[in-house]
Amino acid sequence: MIAVKNLTFSYENGRQALHGLDFMVEDGEVFGFLGPNGSGKSTTQKILTGILTGYGGSVSLFERDFTTIQRQAFFQKIGVLFEFPYLYTNLSAVDNLKYFSSFYPREQLRDIDELIDLLEIKRDFVKKPVSSYSKGMRQRTSMARALLNNPKLLFLDEPTSGLDPTGAVLFRRIIEQESSKGTTIFLTTHNMLDADLLCDRVAFLTDGRIAALDTPKNLKEKNSSRNILVEYLHQGQRKNQILKPDEVGKAFSFLYDEILQVHSQEPTLEDIFLQYTGRGLQ
Ligand code: ADP
Repeated sequence: MIAVKNLTFSYENGRQALHGLDFMVEDGEVFGFLGPNGSGKSTTQKILTGILTGYGGSVSLFERDFTTIQRQAFFQKIGVLFEFPYLYTNLSAVDNLKYFSSFYPREQLRDIDELIDLLEIKRDFVKKPVSSYSKGMRQRTSMARALLNNPKLLFLDEPTSGLDPTGAVLFRRIIEQESSKGTTIFLTTHNMLDADLLCDRVAFLTDGRIAALDTPKNLKEKNSSRNILVEYLHQGQRKNQILKPDEVGKAFSFLYDEILQVHSQEPTLEDIFLQYTGRGLQ
C-alpha cells in the first residue's frame, strides 16, 4: 500500500527533518509511526498525504509512484485525521460533514447520522457551531470527517491526544473496527499504549531516522531481559527478588513464609524505544 525509499525532506529554513527513511506498509496493516515531538512524524504524514512536496527519494501509494498519481482519485481513497482538527468552526458537526460529503461520489459515502452515533457526538451539540465544542468533541467530529468517504487508507495523527479516557477507548475501538474491514491505517503517535494495542508493526523514529521497525511483540521479546520479579513475605516484612527464568525452575532459594506475587518483567514499548534511541517519547 505504501512504499517509501530513502525519503528526505528539508524545510525552507534549511532544517532537514527527514534523513532517508525506508519502510513499506502492507495492505490492511495498522502501521505505527512512533517518536517524540520533533522527530519527523507529521512531516512524513504530510508528504504521504500530498500536503508537502519537494521531498527526496521515492514514495509510492496504491502501487503507484506518488509523482504520477491522479490527485483527485487519490484523495477520494484516503481519510486523514490531522493533529489539529481541520473543520469549519462556524459550521456545526452535521454541516461540516455535509459540506465535506460533497467532495466524494455519493455511493462511497457513509451515513452522517450513523457516523455521529459511532463517534458518540452529543445530540444537543450536532447543530451548534464547532467553535462551541470542547477539544475532544472537535476530535470526534474530525474522526467522523476522516471516515466519511469509507477510506481504503486512513492516516491518523495523534488520534487520542486531547481525548478523555472514554474517548480514547472509543477511538481505539473504531480503529480496530476499521482495521477489521481491511482498511490500511498509518498511525502517527507518541502514545506508546496506542501503538502497543493497535499496531501490527511500529517504526521508531528519532531525529528524522528510523531506529527500529518490527511488531511490538518482537521488539519487546528481542529486548527483554526476561527477568521474573517475586514479591514475598519473610518474618513479617514484604520483600522482593529478581530471578532469571532458569532460577525459578530450581525453586525459590531464599527464605520466605508466603509468596505474594510473581511478575514477568516485560519491558513496555516505551522502555524499548528508550533502549533504541536513548531518549523517551515525550
Ligand atoms: P513531529 O511530528 O514528530 O513532532 P515534525 O515532523 O513536526 O515532528 O518536525 C520535524 C522537524 O522539522 C522538527 O525539528 C521541526 O522543528 C521541523 N519543522 C516542522 N515543521 C516545520 C516548518 N514548517 N518549518 C521549519 N521546520 C519545521
